[in-house]
Amino acid sequence: MQYRINPKNGDKISVLAFGCMRFKRDEKETERQIVKAIELGINYFDTAYIYPGSEATLGRILSKGHREKVKLATKLPPYLVKKKEDFDKIFNTQLERLKTDYIDYYLIHMLTNLDVWQRMVSLGILDWIKEKKEKGQIKNIGFSYHGGSQEFIKIIDAYDWEFCMLQYNYYDEYNQAGKSGLEYAAEKGLPIMIMEPLRGGKLVNLPKEALSVFEESPVKHTPAEWSFRWLWNHPQVLTVLSGMNSQEMLAANVASADEAQIDVLTSEEFDLYKRVKDVLNKSFLVPCTGCGYCIPCPQGVDIPLCFSSYNETATNGKISARFNYIVRTTGHNAGKCVNCGLCEKHCPQSIAIRKELKNTASALESFPYKPLSGFIKRFMKL
Ligand code: SF4
Ligand code: SF4
Repeated sequence: MQYRINPKNGDKISVLAFGCMRFKRDEKETERQIVKAIELGINYFDTAYIYPGSEATLGRILSKGHREKVKLATKLPPYLVKKKEDFDKIFNTQLERLKTDYIDYYLIHMLTNLDVWQRMVSLGILDWIKEKKEKGQIKNIGFSYHGGSQEFIKIIDAYDWEFCMLQYNYYDEYNQAGKSGLEYAAEKGLPIMIMEPLRGGKLVNLPKEALSVFEESPVKHTPAEWSFRWLWNHPQVLTVLSGMNSQEMLAANVASADEAQIDVLTSEEFDLYKRVKDVLNKSFLVPCTGCGYCIPCPQGVDIPLCFSSYNETATNGKISARFNYIVRTTGHNAGKCVNCGLCEKHCPQSIAIRKELKNTASALESFPYKPLSGFIKRFMKL
């Protein structure tokens, strides 16, 4: 495992971090996975208050003698904070779930603009952070970000942050905070954690045309390796989160992390990334990362799955996309949307979800959707 040094506090952090957003149902298997990750040198684990079951599972596992071996990161959901007391209420629940007395890296979750941070300030978060730091309950304070680059700079300048976490990958180089945000944060001396390195799997399951571009390289890498190499090539990146829910994925990512280097990509390789990105730009109808922040929908629409099938119409063709759509979204299809708009407030990618669900329904629920779905559901006993 390669490590990089946090420029703010000297912490030695593995270049590959464990993202704990989705654990397997089988806790024993999750435990094996986490223990193995620690043995392989991963020392940064990232969870959040709102990831279902994640903090409690991670807490139970780390409490079996692993807590001191890792840096633990978790997040405060601003939209659940309505009054000052909520800071403590949420934080104490997190300490309880995580079975710990302190959080190494505490993030304000999913900031998208300065207003959200200012609302936290108006509720007294500055004094609250000061108190938690004095008590040693929070070691480092930062934020995760999903807005645009201008607001990112305002947020960076609005407080004396100790780190930040960005969605960044070769496809998103100029999206959200993007390259300019990354460079700005680094100039301010902030360590940068990276989320969505594989864009919710989209940079792993590449369309054939994109795969054949990477295959032109004399040195062969998997699509995931291409993504990680691009990120680790940045000196500003401290660590890259990956949600690894199989031993194979863990082993493959750790093997990539063993090779992580700064400033090694060649101009020929940058050209390959650019061409792959051009292919992807043609093939993603909706830039959904599958993060799931928009669900549950009160009508039961499985928004990320609907968009995943819709995107598939461009990459794998309509027949396969329609079949997968019926199998995966039965009872949770786009046509169930009643246009309430609740989901859009939570989308870090600012997707016009209602409009795109209408497009999804037009593409995938037109004739012969009904008879076909009836047949498939009966046949597959869905
Ligand atoms: S707009 Fe549609 S998909 Fe979004 S929460 Fe409302 S019903 Fe669900
Ligand atoms: S629509 Fe937005 S919030 Fe929902 S899964 Fe996709 S990216 Fe995430």
